[in-house]
Amino acid sequence: MSTHSRRRKISEKQSEESSDDENYVPYIPIKQRKKAQLQNVELRLGRAAALIKEEEEAIKQSTSEGSEASDREDGEDSEEDEEEEETQGVGERSHISLLDQHSELKKKAEAKKETAREKLLKEEERILESVAEKTALMGVAELAKGIQYQEAIKTGWLPPRCIRELSEARHARLRKKMHILVEGHDLPPPIANFKEMKFPKAILNGLKKKGITKPTPIQIQGIPAVLLGRDMIGIAFTGSGKTLVFTLPIIMFSLEQEKRLPFIKGEGPYGLIICPSRELARQTHEIIQYYSQCLADDGFPMLRCGLCIGGVSVKEQLEVIKAGIHILVATTGRLMDMLNKKMITLDVCRYLAMDEADRMIDMGFEEDVRTIFSYFKSQRQTLLFSATMPKKIQNFARSALVKPVTVNVGRAGAASLDVIQEVEYVKQEAKMMYLLECLQKTAPPVLIFAEKKQDVDAIHEYLLLKGVEAVAVHGGKDQEERTRSIDQFKHAKKDVLVATDVASKGLDFPDIQHVINYDMPEDIENYVHRIGRTGRCGKTGIATTFINKTVEESILLDLKHLLIEAKQNCPPFLAGMTSESEKYLDIGGEIGCSYCGGLGHRISDCPKLEALQTKQAQNIGRRDYLANNSADW
Ligand code: ADP
Ligand code: MG
Repeated sequence: MSTHSRRRKISEKQSEESSDDENYVPYIPIKQRKKAQLQNVELRLGRAAALIKEEEEAIKQSTSEGSEASDREDGEDSEEDEEEEETQGVGERSHISLLDQHSELKKKAEAKKETAREKLLKEEERILESVAEKTALMGVAELAKGIQYQEAIKTGWLPPRCIRELSEARHARLRKKMHILVEGHDLPPPIANFKEMKFPKAILNGLKKKGITKPTPIQIQGIPAVLLGRDMIGIAFTGSGKTLVFTLPIIMFSLEQEKRLPFIKGEGPYGLIICPSRELARQTHEIIQYYSQCLADDGFPMLRCGLCIGGVSVKEQLEVIKAGIHILVATTGRLMDMLNKKMITLDVCRYLAMDEADRMIDMGFEEDVRTIFSYFKSQRQTLLFSATMPKKIQNFARSALVKPVTVNVGRAGAASLDVIQEVEYVKQEAKMMYLLECLQKTAPPVLIFAEKKQDVDAIHEYLLLKGVEAVAVHGGKDQEERTRSIDQFKHAKKDVLVATDVASKGLDFPDIQHVINYDMPEDIENYVHRIGRTGRCGKTGIATTFINKTVEESILLDLKHLLIEAKQNCPPFLAGMTSESEKYLDIGGEIGCSYCGGLGHRISDCPKLEALQTKQAQNIGRRDYLANNSADW
């Protein structure tokens, strides 16, 4: 306001001066008139420069001091300053070349940008703070009693002497070589082979049979951390072998417990693994069964692993559980139900792993996680894994962990570099026809994703009509059909699987050649998970995504920047897309959005946050909303 009023004063003054000139001086020789004119111009220039300067000054002050600045400007002092600056302006301008003036102005503009940048960062921090969860991610009892554990759980495992004797610098070198980033206190050592992790021969042979001889980076750092009893957040690309990081240690711990005191009827589980989909839970259960069998075949006691998922009879599941189990793999809905009905207890449970953890904590799931936590009776080891985990969720999740270690291989949310990503513009009405052509790109197996169940059904029907050996999976189908379809596809009896995002997270189909996104998911994280079904464990795969003008601009911008990050071809229609907010993408702090992890926007423009806020405002029931995301309730 003060600059405005000042601007008004100055223009009034100017008009007074000019009227003086016209009305009161009858004749002035031409020489004098020209001189006066020149002075006038100079004066005006000076004033303009002074005004610009003041405006900049005001902006700077308002960002650094706030109201203080404007108070001062209203006082008399400011008038004096104005005079001073005016004369300075004239002096400066008359001695400095235009080029210098230009560069000076440019510098000023830069400085202005700088303050805008700071302002933006501050604003972002404020937003992130306002959406941060106020209650720690802990069980109700722990919260109420104020229980806080300080130390990690003790286990019977120690790194072998040869590793213990190595210097910290040596560990750092290995981590650097494998692109492993670790954070936390008392970092566990990385171990570059399974043998030195002290796994029994039976496990080593079991791994070898699956073609697994050398640990991947997340396993090199993650497995020793978990074996040492540490709480951990593990972030690594899709298909980089995260599952073994949390399954092998719990198998070893259970074995140790069983040897010490065999599990009796109704006892257990000792370890709990939670997954966001039934199919993923089933897959994880199978992996544990496989290694348990390897051990049993070698004379170790047989470990019992239960599966607790929706869509199958409780009675069957209960039978296994009642016999006493070492490990339980579950989806949240059924687990909470059975905990609530006291069919399962977590009295002796000391180990909790959450796979695709961000998907579970995100968007209001945390209340369920808290409920599950509240069933634990004493300290547990907690592990969280995913390929995508925005800072907001990492920070929040950390409140559930004790002295955590964060292991990061690649940026959280980055796409696997083993996937060739292609994006094609396909008109809405041409999609189905083009799909058939697109299927020819590679040999089977091919995975097709669509957002809506109806689309999955339509594509499935179309492909069957065209003679393609296809199966389909979505949340609306009964569990028996879902399981059958997945099994047929897994065992190469069918060439194509059409699915919703139910099948996008964690499922490990062997050798998928091609993932086709019939539509772009609403969430860039889901895109990363979908295309991550191919290009697994060192193999290369292709992902084709259909986009057209029905797709939201913000998600296309996220996609554009994800492609650039992964050094993929960016088609011209995508490359040519720009937005206002793109200017601020690299202003520092977190890259991209600190709320959802998207690279194409900042938190201030996050569509996901906006959607969440709208939904909260409309007070839509949490369960209904989640039912859209996951059918595993
Ligand atoms: P993520 O959970 O990180 O997406 P998974 O744990 O599902 O990945 O593993 C992907 C695939 O890689 C699986 O088929 C698994 O058997 C295989 N795999 C895991 N670890 C290794 C390894 N060290 N060497 C070779 N293959 C591995
Ligand atoms: Mg996984």
